[in-house]
Amino acid sequence: MDKKGTLFIVATPIGNLEDITIRAIKILGDVDLIAAEDTRHTLKLLNHLKISKPLISYHRHNEGTKTEILIKELKNGKDIALVSDAGTPGISDPGEEIIKKCIEEGIDIVPIPGACAMINALICSGIDTKEFQFLGFLPLNKKLRKNKIEEIRNANKTVILYEAPHKLLTTLEDLKEILNNRRIVLARELTKIHEEFIRESIDSLIDKSKDIKGEIVLIIEANKNIKENDFAKLSIEEQYNFYKEQGLEKKEIIKKIAKNKNVNKNEIYKKFIK
Ligand code: SAM
Repeated sequence: MDKKGTLFIVATPIGNLEDITIRAIKILGDVDLIAAEDTRHTLKLLNHLKISKPLISYHRHNEGTKTEILIKELKNGKDIALVSDAGTPGISDPGEEIIKKCIEEGIDIVPIPGACAMINALICSGIDTKEFQFLGFLPLNKKLRKNKIEEIRNANKTVILYEAPHKLLTTLEDLKEILNNRRIVLARELTKIHEEFIRESIDSLIDKSKDIKGEIVLIIEANKNIKENDFAKLSIEEQYNFYKEQGLEKKEIIKKIAKNKNVNKNEIYKKFIK
């Protein structure tokens, strides 16, 4: 049987063009085809690296059809590099779909590590890095958004969000409403000339928001009032009251307690019926 090709998931710079590994350059030069989120954008990087390769567009709106085409090429023995506009593919960027399909089809996938905005924002934030949760962009739908921010309020680990500059003020105001004045570090324009870490309260970020431009990552400090061990020690009733005070719906509370206590949610439900 003919050998199948390999899909390389290649991280590219998030600003500074020098942030690309020697291995990534080698892979981009060796593959038969590069699948790129925006071919014009990637062409600039390839020109900078003096690499000339056939490019095929692969973005959110054509992921389905292009996945099929790329899988066919891989089955025909072609090696493909997948890149996004910036950073690591699959992290708030296309990638998941073709990766799942490759696994189904027995096609090798190889990660080529490199820049990722959330990791670089986190490591220099000064906020705890031991445990963290990456939530990507907050949903736009009001209810889902509120639920997500409530999740952040209850999180006992650092939370990382991506945000676009024109939505920053609305996001900060929404966060303020539910989190109050929790400590947030705003990292912007990482690896670029105007790279900056703003380590202030939500209030002061709101005041400054109209002057904050460029690409943004928000690092939110954990809810210091909840420590996982302490929380596990709480009785079902105490946990119930805690979540109720946080404004959670009964169904959601039961689900959370069942998870905390590592039991089936029907068991918790029965206790409440009693
Ligand atoms: N795949 C990328 C990664 O690995 O970080 C993320 C892509 S996502 C579509 C774009 C978001 O990432 C931006 O809206 C911003 O929140 C964040 N981002 C990307 N580059 C950044 C930079 N240089 N500085 C700060 N944030 C950045």
